[in-house]
Amino acid sequence: MEIKSNILGNDFGRSRSEDGNHQPADTTLQNALGLASPNSMLSMRGHGDFVAANKLRQSVLEKDFGDYLRAYAEWIPRTTPVTNSERSIAAKTRIELAKEAINLPSISEICERRKICQKNMEKIMSVIRRSLEVDSRDYEVSEAGISKKMTIERRGLGILNTKHGKFWQYDFHINDCWEKYSVIVKAEIDHGTLRPIFTNPEELVMRIDSGCETGQVFSDLTCECRQQLHLALEKIANIGEGMVINIPRQDGRGMGLSFKLATLWLQDALGVNTVESATMVSCGGPIDKRTYAGVICILKYFLVPCSRKINLATNNPKKASIFPENGYQITEFTPVLVEPDEHTVEHLKAKQQYLGHKNLLGNDSLQ
Ligand SMILES: [Zn+2]
Repeated sequence: MEIKSNILGNDFGRSRSEDGNHQPADTTLQNALGLASPNSMLSMRGHGDFVAANKLRQSVLEKDFGDYLRAYAEWIPRTTPVTNSERSIAAKTRIELAKEAINLPSISEICERRKICQKNMEKIMSVIRRSLEVDSRDYEVSEAGISKKMTIERRGLGILNTKHGKFWQYDFHINDCWEKYSVIVKAEIDHGTLRPIFTNPEELVMRIDSGCETGQVFSDLTCECRQQLHLALEKIANIGEGMVINIPRQDGRGMGLSFKLATLWLQDALGVNTVESATMVSCGGPIDKRTYAGVICILKYFLVPCSRKINLATNNPKKASIFPENGYQITEFTPVLVEPDEHTVEHLKAKQQYLGHKNLLGNDSLQ
């Protein structure tokens, strides 16, 4: 109990002897684990604390569960708790992690289970840790006749196991008004550059997907975005390589989630379609503010040469104009057609009639 109260206290694991002098913290496992984290190291008040903590950290690292702590020490966000409540939360988290670490298998047990040697395990860990280092690049991109320098940051990547197979998900940040770009990629990746290796020199199949929280995340049936996304992933999986660029903040055709929610409410209240409701909510103003310069940044970041023809998986030809402006050629459109149902038929009709989407009801073509 004494150990616990020490760890939970503001002094981060320092214990106080009866005469009030600071003593090195208890060397029991829990306390040592607590002190071994970088958070507690950062919050040490003086050199004595630091030396004591470092000594404990070393003794913990030498034990069998040291690998975990090392990994944990690398992974934990490097933030210094500031308020008492933050310190308390950080201390509790360390205790929980420490308890888990005691029960978890050792790194060597995991290697044995996966039949890989520790050297390979370290290589994997090193690549994955590197994926968390932000990689920032600047590119010149043109849109609507205006050329601008844009900065793209790769902030992370990992693997998705979907019903259409494995994909990589890249987390990008671009300094435009959409900020976040999630790119779902079907390809091997280069473990050095962490970029995808697209092997077809002729063509790259890609889709630009405006985020749709209501449909894709919460399964609202008014639109077909969720089905379209799955269909696109399925097509890309069948082809063997390609990517979907998802831009979450382009929800509601770039008008934003709150605008879109208002249009959904209006559709439900008055039975109007998506275009009518958007026009009513915007009072006759624009109902589509999407821009696509970020897509070109991603192509450039992935080192896709202009000689690689773009096969755009879309029913909306308006998404194509950004490519030729930046030297890329679209040679094919792959339709992503979802069968209309009782919920979506009016939505699809409106998109075809007013927004120029093609072939949604099987009665025209993109050509
Ligand atoms: Zn939608």
